[in-house]
Amino acid sequence: MPAVDALGRPLGVLRLSLTARCNLACPYCLPDGQEPPGLLSLEQRLQLITAAVALGARSLRLTGGEPLLYPQLEALIRACQALREQGLHEIALTSNGLLLSAERAQRLRSAGLDRLTLSLDGSNPASVATMAGLADEAAGARALQQVLEAIEHARCAGFDPATGALKLNAVIQRGRNEDQLLPLAALGRQRGLELRLIEYMDVGNRNGWSGADVVPAAAMVQTIHERWPLEAMGRAQHGTANRWRYSDGHGAVAVVASVSEPFCGDCNRLRITADGIAYTCLFAAPGSGVDLRPWLQPGITPAQLHQAMADLWIARTDRYSETRERTGATKQPHAEMAYLGG
Ligand code: SAM
Ligand code: SF4
Repeated sequence: MPAVDALGRPLGVLRLSLTARCNLACPYCLPDGQEPPGLLSLEQRLQLITAAVALGARSLRLTGGEPLLYPQLEALIRACQALREQGLHEIALTSNGLLLSAERAQRLRSAGLDRLTLSLDGSNPASVATMAGLADEAAGARALQQVLEAIEHARCAGFDPATGALKLNAVIQRGRNEDQLLPLAALGRQRGLELRLIEYMDVGNRNGWSGADVVPAAAMVQTIHERWPLEAMGRAQHGTANRWRYSDGHGAVAVVASVSEPFCGDCNRLRITADGIAYTCLFAAPGSGVDLRPWLQPGITPAQLHQAMADLWIARTDRYSETRERTGATKQPHAEMAYLGG
């Protein structure tokens, strides 16, 4: 039986941040240049994943920061394979793709990674440079080329977009890259990739978020629908994305509307940072997480760690996104995205 929180939501997904560092500095995210002190070891990460699976997590998403910077990534994925017998269904990774060489993609696949989501917020050098915080168009052109190559490396390694094993994420920000909606949709259609358009979220404090910078999902869908008609597929239970199929048969596009159409009601995600702090909401305040390191020390039994994680999940009442307007909570401080694990 999965652990169920105070609002009746079962634990289903563990999002594990492997590093708070990144090789980009997207202005909407702005990661730390350095790791927090007290990074977990591979063994400690495995203990956390094991406990989460025992509490009902069926999906593990490895993220960051940029998870390809974590040198033991493949070793961790390999070590997780034994947990499939305990109920782990899938292991997924979110990456900006810059470090995804053909060889790395093969190594990840052989280690047992099931799904890969690559992030790309523009289809031309100027927009990539703007969204990724790069110095100039030349750097934007290099990054764009690297991500486009990464998509093909992933495909060749066996991450098949037709089965949902390879997807593309794009954050859309008003006044910055909303002109990229149709070009990104075209790119997804040409390459057979499901594009997931993410509303710009009020995670972290460094990005200076304002509601005026959000392009609501409904407006994104309308823009695409006017060019390529769409049919609603809905949002899977516990899912983050509302999916739409192209009426002409060219695949699907999705929107993650966590600002305009929050989905806290069935949120099943537990986040653990690279230094072992558990957060039960993406919009949590800094310092509000539960430090799990005391339960990762020698002499502590797996049952004690299991109990500590069960306790924090059972007490969970977060529904920030559903209450942000009413409570004016956007003015409260938020932990940073790259630290929490996006
Ligand atoms: N570095 C990897 C990447 O960019 O894919 C993984 C970590 S990143 C934090 C995970 C996802 O969060 C990315 O797709 C990124 O675009 C998204 N993201 C970061 N900050 C965001 C924000 N303020 N609003 C919406 N999405 C955001
Ligand atoms: Fe790095 Fe991903 Fe944040 Fe961009 S969104 S700065 S790639 S962690």
